[in-house]
This record gives sequence, structure tokens and C-alpha cells, in this order.
Amino acid sequence: MRRSLKCVYCAEVATTNDHVIARCLLEKPYPPDLKTVPSCRACNAAYKADEEYLLAIMAQAGFVPSLMSKVEKDGIVDRMLQGSSGLDARIINSLRVADDGRVYMTPEEVRIANVARKVAFGLYCHRYTPKKLPSLADFFALEPLHNEDDKNFIVVLAHTERFQPRRWIHVQTIKPPGSRPIQVFDYMFVRNWYLRDFERLFCVMRFHETIWAAVRCPEPPNRKHPKCRVEHRYDGRQEPL
Ligand SMILES: [Zn+2]
Repeated sequence: MRRSLKCVYCAEVATTNDHVIARCLLEKPYPPDLKTVPSCRACNAAYKADEEYLLAIMAQAGFVPSLMSKVEKDGIVDRMLQGSSGLDARIINSLRVADDGRVYMTPEEVRIANVARKVAFGLYCHRYTPKKLPSLADFFALEPLHNEDDKNFIVVLAHTERFQPRRWIHVQTIKPPGSRPIQVFDYMFVRNWYLRDFERLFCVMRFHETIWAAVRCPEPPNRKHPKCRVEHRYDGRQEPL
């Protein structure tokens, strides 16, 4: 069986193409060259709920105009919430009123991490085209670091102030009337994201400039030095790949 006929997530027969970055997380008109991976119908549908949850969370919490319009009457998130009592209940459960009377959001991080891992996995497969597909279990979303000083801006799954973004790959940039350009989705592959995982490869993603995610990826295939099997770590220990 050709690899392209297997679901990249579960290895069952693929009958659909799953968008690596779901279209619901982007803006219309969609970029023309969106990446997809072969997927079975069950896996494709399973991610949809988490992707819609992520969109609803961002629309409630984000400050960019394109997001804010989604929660207004008949906006896409407004319609999603009206059509799904389960999603509506999840959003309500994510909101907390603090002692100072302000409303804070505590999103379900597992669901956001689930989307982040899936997107990183797809981007990784397209970028490094490994002969043998890695397992989704080899991709780890970083634990969330919340910014205690400004809880209205939800900072999810690791954002460090020291990080200097340089090589963002902009999948979609929009320019709403009267607004500065907004990065709808961008990402980059970096090493040295933070010390505990020194020299490891990470996929760092930004969704609507609102939610950041960092996912640790497996070591990509090294085509130039295929016999190099040992990685030298910063602490002097050696670890087989
Ligand atoms: Zn599947």
C-alpha cells in the first residue's frame, strides 16, 4: 500500500485530506496553497471539535479586529455557539470571575495542545518529508506558562519574553480596513527554545497573534550525515537518536 493512502494519524485507510492548519482557524479568502495530509474520516472529524474550541476561545479573548467580529451577532463563533450547546457550555466553564470582579479565561489546555501537536506534526512532515512517518506521540506540546500580570491576554503553551522571533513563515496575513496588517497564522522551526530541551527542535506557532504554542518535534532525518547517530548534548552526555 502506498503511504499516501494511509491516515497519517492512525495508519487506517485514508479517505480524506485533512488541512494541516484548519480553514476555520484562517480567514476567507483562504491562501491558495494550504497544506494537507491524508487522513481517515474519523481522525479528520476528531480534530474538528478541538479546532472549533480553539477558535471560540481566541475570539472571546483576542484583541485583533478580525477575531472580535467573529463573536458579534451572526459572526462565525456566534453561530457555532448557538448551534452547539456543548461548545457553549465549555466556553462558560472556561470563564472565571476573580475577587476583583474581572472575568478571566482559563482555557482547556489539553484541547489547545491537541490542535498544536497536530499542526506541528503536519508542518514537520511537509518540511522534512521523513521516509518513515513519525508517530504523533513523538510530538510534545510545551506546558503552558501563564502571564500572571495580564491574564486578559491568554498566553498559552510557552511564550518567553526573551524569545526574538526572526524566521516566521507567514501562512496568512490580512489587512482589515483601517487596521494594521494582522498575522492570522504563522510558525517557525527553531532550536534552543528553552534550556531544559537545549538543541531540540521545536515548532513555534502563533494563532491570530493571540495564542502561542510550542511543540517539541522528533529529530528530523539528517540526509547529509546519515551515519551520525549520536547527539552531543550541552551537558556533555550523549544520547542515541
Ligand atoms: Zn485516522
